[in-house]
Amino acid sequence: MAEIVAIDGPAGSGKSSVSKEVARRLGFGYLDTGAAYRALSWAVAEGHVAKPEAADETFDGFDYEISLNPDDFWVKSYGVDITNAIRLPKIAESVSAVAGVPAVRRFMKKLTRDLVSQSELGGVVVEGRDITTVVAPDAPVRLLLTASEEVRLERRAKELSPEDLATLRQQVLERDKSDSKVVDFMKPADGVDLVDTTNLDFEQSVQAVLSIIREQL
Ligand code: C5P
Repeated sequence: MAEIVAIDGPAGSGKSSVSKEVARRLGFGYLDTGAAYRALSWAVAEGHVAKPEAADETFDGFDYEISLNPDDFWVKSYGVDITNAIRLPKIAESVSAVAGVPAVRRFMKKLTRDLVSQSELGGVVVEGRDITTVVAPDAPVRLLLTASEEVRLERRAKELSPEDLATLRQQVLERDKSDSKVVDFMKPADGVDLVDTTNLDFEQSVQAVLSIIREQL
């Protein structure tokens, strides 16, 4: 089984870009767990999967593939490359509702663990919202990446170049608010190291994470 580096954090904390770069430098795989929640929302919108509601529902038929290669990232579902489609605002708007369904969370936990164990990699950087607490609470390295609200919004604005910053602000903060009702990714759980990237640039954030990993692995 691959060593897991578990990284959680809110939108704009630098979690995805930092995790990907850290994986590259360590020669590890990179697993974006938010992509599966986004893909499931996409599959619901496309009519491939019924809207998840029932607590005991299973998603065995959900067709999902993701690359763990940080240099060649893609996501596929039902024969379609949805790498870009899952980043569209309409997915961001619907994903929290899907992620709030307990049956979905149970399914995602197993899916994530299966993806790591089937990967045959020495290590995988797994990033999301509940990796340090639910998916891999026993991981040898567990980190929470945060940044001030202002800095997180600035980073998102740069990433997406939206026309309307007020709408972006509302979307990001609302998504974090509804997501944090389901799992707490704003405060580190016991034994989880906190990396606050508010005053760190990208390289400094990567170095901060790498130094904790080197200490602990
Ligand atoms: O990380 P990203 O913004 O792509 O995640 C999309 C959504 O997936 C989050 O807003 C959240 O609702 C859900 N998610 C989750 N648990 C994770 C990863 C993502 O609930 N581990």
